[in-house]
Amino acid sequence: MNIFNTKKEIKSYLTAQKQKNKTIGFVPTMGALHKGHLSLIKEAKKKNDLVVVSIFVNPTQFNNTIDFVKYPKTLENDTKLLNSVLCDVLFLPSAEEIYTQNIVSDKFDFDGLEHQMEGKHRKGHFDGVATVVKTFFEIIDPDIAYFGQKDFQQLQIIKKMVQKHRLNTKIKGCPIFRENDGLAMSSRNTRLTETHRKAVPFIYKILEKVREQFNVDNTLEITEWVEDEFKKNTTLELEYFTIAEEKTLKSEKNKASDKKYRAFIAVFAGEIRLIDNLQLKNN
Ligand code: AMP
Repeated sequence: MNIFNTKKEIKSYLTAQKQKNKTIGFVPTMGALHKGHLSLIKEAKKKNDLVVVSIFVNPTQFNNTIDFVKYPKTLENDTKLLNSVLCDVLFLPSAEEIYTQNIVSDKFDFDGLEHQMEGKHRKGHFDGVATVVKTFFEIIDPDIAYFGQKDFQQLQIIKKMVQKHRLNTKIKGCPIFRENDGLAMSSRNTRLTETHRKAVPFIYKILEKVREQFNVDNTLEITEWVEDEFKKNTTLELEYFTIAEEKTLKSEKNKASDKKYRAFIAVFAGEIRLIDNLQLKNN
């Protein structure tokens, strides 16, 4: 695996590869890699001649300094995992390399997608994400970029960014990888205390029940039920739960048979914030 730290080095390497007609798949990450990340890389390996993975803990997408400072860093293990799935290129830039002057994000308009859910609770988060993803796309110019449905709102926003800025990269959404007990894999899971780790499978259990109830109750009744279940849970704190339409990410009072819906949730387990979502079947 080739490892590059600068834009100049990676650009010159990839330009030479493109001249040989090699296609490029790109998987942006913040490191502390787990099987969820590896599933994206494996998918990219199937469809492209070369796979580039970036590890960059992007300062501008954190709205909480403790979360940023304590974000897990496991580079040695990440490198081993990347080699095990035959990743071709690892891009490991510094913040100064990506943000040439001030470490601030650009402002984006995603037709309102950015104001829902995570946008309400993490101010400036999606401007930070879009700034860095757009910069990476400019440097790497991938044919296809892979994003997890684990961050479904982010996936929809990146698709919108590509559409609005007329970028050449195709965006592929990949399914959520879970632990055996249903917990969605996340780099932040390693920071959970033993007590919180035991408590968090509750999140997916709730989502599964929501999926069952979606054909019986209306969204308001389901939301109230979820809020009540979390009030009874003394270990976890619900930040938000919402059922939203997949394209607009807005909650709707009445279901339409030609639209797709998803349940979205954010929960605090102590100081660790976890998000998850599940597609609902609209029978
Ligand atoms: P992160 O390192 O958390 O920024 O994630 C990098 C990419 O991996 C994003 O596109 C995430 O949505 C995706 N990802 C993270 N966790 C999972 C998971 N459990 N299953 C599938 N994709 C994931």
